[in-house]
Amino acid sequence: MAIAVVWFKRDLRCIDHAPLRAAAASGHPVLPLYLVEPGLWAQADASARQWRLVGDALAELHSALAVLGAPLCVLRGEAATAFDALHQAHGIAEVHAHEETGNAWTYARDRRVAGRLREQGVAFIEHPNGSTVRRLARREAWLPQWERHNGAAVWPAPVALRGFDAAASDAGREDCGGGAAARAWLADAHHELLPDARDLGLDGDPCPGRQPGGRASALRLLSSFIDGRGAGYSRGMSSPISAARVCSRLSVHFATGTLSIREAVAATRAAASAGSATPVRALQSFESRLHWQGHFMQKLESEPDLEFRNTHRGFDGLREGCFDRSAFEAWRTGTTGWPFVDACMRMLAATGWINFRMRAMLMAVASYHLWLHWRETGLHLARQFTDYEPGIHWPQVQMQSGVTGINIPRIYNPVKQGLDQDPDGAFVRRWVPELAALPAPWIHLPWKLPAAQLARYGVVLGRDYPEPVRDHEQAARVAKARLTTWWREHPGMREGARAVLARHGSRLKQSRPRLHGPAKKNPAPPGATQGELFAPADQSS
Ligand SMILES: Cc1cc2nc3c(=O)[nH]c(=O)nc-3n(C[C@H](O)[C@H](O)[C@H](O)COP(=O)(O)OP(=O)(O)OC[C@H]3O[C@@H](n4cnc5c(N)ncnc54)[C@H](O)[C@@H]3O)c2cc1C
Repeated sequence: MAIAVVWFKRDLRCIDHAPLRAAAASGHPVLPLYLVEPGLWAQADASARQWRLVGDALAELHSALAVLGAPLCVLRGEAATAFDALHQAHGIAEVHAHEETGNAWTYARDRRVAGRLREQGVAFIEHPNGSTVRRLARREAWLPQWERHNGAAVWPAPVALRGFDAAASDAGREDCGGGAAARAWLADAHHELLPDARDLGLDGDPCPGRQPGGRASALRLLSSFIDGRGAGYSRGMSSPISAARVCSRLSVHFATGTLSIREAVAATRAAASAGSATPVRALQSFESRLHWQGHFMQKLESEPDLEFRNTHRGFDGLREGCFDRSAFEAWRTGTTGWPFVDACMRMLAATGWINFRMRAMLMAVASYHLWLHWRETGLHLARQFTDYEPGIHWPQVQMQSGVTGINIPRIYNPVKQGLDQDPDGAFVRRWVPELAALPAPWIHLPWKLPAAQLARYGVVLGRDYPEPVRDHEQAARVAKARLTTWWREHPGMREGARAVLARHGSRLKQSRPRLHGPAKKNPAPPGATQGELFAPADQSS
């Protein structure tokens, strides 16, 4: 009997999983499938740390599916080839998967697979993922759709699956043409153990402080956040010291799908109405961010080109052709000579995560002070983030680089951020040990101390720690002037911005359900338009 394949991609869970439910209800034996696609892991935004995180999640998914009666099958190879082989060897009736808002490579791959399955008469059923709406005609329709999906009850996992027995299928099939070759391909592609990152060409990338992946960790984080860890969320999310503890840290789980947004919404709303140690205000703030997740992802879903091109095409040419590689290397390796920036980059390298404000600052420093085009710097950050989510990442990268035309540019002052978020210098001391002996505030601006005084703390700039790559105040002034001139000298910028606003702007006036508790104005996504078009202004912060 032909099989129903559930193609797991970035939805590595059994609960709240429409494709698994549909396959279970189909009456066909179910084959849960994960494809290790070398082409995917060869992309410029992929890294070993991301693969290892996926590995954690797959190990747990395998056990959970085995309990349900249909263990996960892991094959290594190109997706269209794998489906061909499965179809020839066992006969596929239908393939179920979630719609994926991924990068250009996954988009092209999905189209290829859909075409191939269609040719073979196999139904390819893609289920909405709850964050984005495919072929969304009007932005106004996104929020009601989000609420319909994520405000509904979470679907339980199927009670049991009718598993698929490959050996029995082999025995019962006539070999019609390529069957033997397909089975040989499958035997070769089949993996009992997951390949190591090195087997996928992903070298090195130590990340000693990496968050574990997998469903169990997701559930622990969700309940600890709701049961009190989130009490300091609103106050503590901006500093990289407190944020690691008070933020939900669920991003890696949303990115791998070990937890669905709907599960997080349900738990948040239940906690808010039952009362929990995390106050309603913090829960509200968290739920707003769950909206932003989809709000940003929808931008890439609606315009996949955003991975490569400026949202506002009027900015084409702004930074192209002037990439300063040595400045990029200093930024990438955490050796800019701006201690707080370097500390953030080094924390990110060692842990795979840093909080929102620091991500924004790292990006802004690259795009404004160092005037680097966002594509290469964005790729570096993508590889560093274990929670890399193309749909959030690229629109945020562009927003923090001032090329959307609808967001007020924020040129973060890297010294002021250090003084605000790390006033006693403990964070810099931890991640930039070369400067550990320096007291605050000098640890944030060592170049301001006379050389003799620095030497008393055992520091010689240029020997123990770099001189600043630029005068940051002067660099910020130049960046601001460049942007202002660009707006003035390029006709059609405002019209272009209006078109971007119509296509991607948030619809803040649209209402959405409130959690119980004191009424609070819905905060806009950081940097999101307030309904005004961008006008260049002094936004140094
Ligand atoms: C340049 C840049 C790149 C980014 N790239 C990514 C990325 O690749 N993957 C990613 O998940 N987030 C990205 N973010 C958004 C944000 O920094 C992270 O979602 C957040 O820090 C993750 O930690 P958390 O789960 O503890 O967040 P929490 O504060 O606990 O938020 C809960 C969830 O809400 C969503 N969320 C929170 N903040 C934002 C935001 N500003 N925009 C959209 N969604 C948000 C995320 O899904 C997050 O997991 C980026 C931000 C910037 C400035």
